[in-house]
Amino acid sequence: MEILLNPGPVNLSERVRQALLKPDLCHREEEFTILQNDIRNKLLDVYNLSAEEWTAVLITGSGTSAMEAMLISLVPAEGRVLIIENGVYGERLSRIAEIYNISYETLHYDWGEEIQPQDVEKSLTNDISHVALVHHETTTGRLNILDPIAAICRSGNIPILLDGVSSFGAEAVQFDEWNLHACAATANKCLHGIPGTSFVICKRGALQSSAGSQRSLYLDLHTYVEQQDHGGTPFTQSVQSFYALDEALNEHREDGGPAARRELYRRRMALLRRGLEKLGIRALLPENACSCVLNSFHLPDKMEYGLLHDGLKSRGFVIYAGQGGLVKSIFRISLMGAISDDDILRFLTAVEEVIRE
Ligand SMILES: *Cc1c(COP(=O)(O)O)cnc(C)c1O
Repeated sequence: MEILLNPGPVNLSERVRQALLKPDLCHREEEFTILQNDIRNKLLDVYNLSAEEWTAVLITGSGTSAMEAMLISLVPAEGRVLIIENGVYGERLSRIAEIYNISYETLHYDWGEEIQPQDVEKSLTNDISHVALVHHETTTGRLNILDPIAAICRSGNIPILLDGVSSFGAEAVQFDEWNLHACAATANKCLHGIPGTSFVICKRGALQSSAGSQRSLYLDLHTYVEQQDHGGTPFTQSVQSFYALDEALNEHREDGGPAARRELYRRRMALLRRGLEKLGIRALLPENACSCVLNSFHLPDKMEYGLLHDGLKSRGFVIYAGQGGLVKSIFRISLMGAISDDDILRFLTAVEEVIRE
């Protein structure tokens, strides 16, 4: 089996793979209601959130559907959102706002640059009702530091809508301290489920205060919450993906939750960075600016991405290209999924072989 070092979908553990083989199930039956309720509760448990204040809304779609649902459901018609961009996914948030005609403004940085809290402060004019940004910018591996940004937002009583798609389940997400109204995420990144299910963890009060201006039939969170709270679902859900997510959440909890997963990824990432450094491959960003999930590296001297990719793929490893302007200069390595330290050591040997060739 290939080792996937791309940022999702990830290699599945054997128990998650086996969960896919559970009985065929109709999404209008009691067994589905139980499964859906279990997953919603387990998702809140990941960050110890109270079910009175918070709710997990399950959507059949990739991570982008959760980003889109979050933005279009929670920014009311009269709202205006400040979107902070320092990579592809921040820019995607702006694109969503643009398409749905949501009133917005951007605070733009080049990809990989650090967000400056004083810029956020200056951008928070009176008409801004929400701030939206990405937690871990998978474009470069930069982990945006939320504490100072959230402190500024809190003092203006402005809630944050967070794209936590590539951080949920591993990085620390401080729902209350950061004044989050919502966090969008997916089953198939740090939670180690399969692609097909994404979700938004929402503050119940935020759903109430944004009700009444439906912008989409399929991606309206109010519709989902209303029906999921009564054990139903507005549309067919990906039942097998639910089975896998439920088992992945059991495994996540038994492994020690987000803190344990973070430590595991960090340790692996340190091993990877040191190993690549020995081969003369430099990281794009310093270690303390990066997530534990994914890091970017400069391509080895004079080597095209395609050569490196193909050489590694023939040895059983799938790496990930840079995007846009970074496509010719970097490659990305993610360490999510059911992989081992030994896989990383074998990967380093494979990189050495490909470079030597
Ligand atoms: C992966 C990812 C997404 C969603 O991508 P999909 O291809 O729609 O699953 C959104 N935001 C971030 C930060 C991501 O890493």
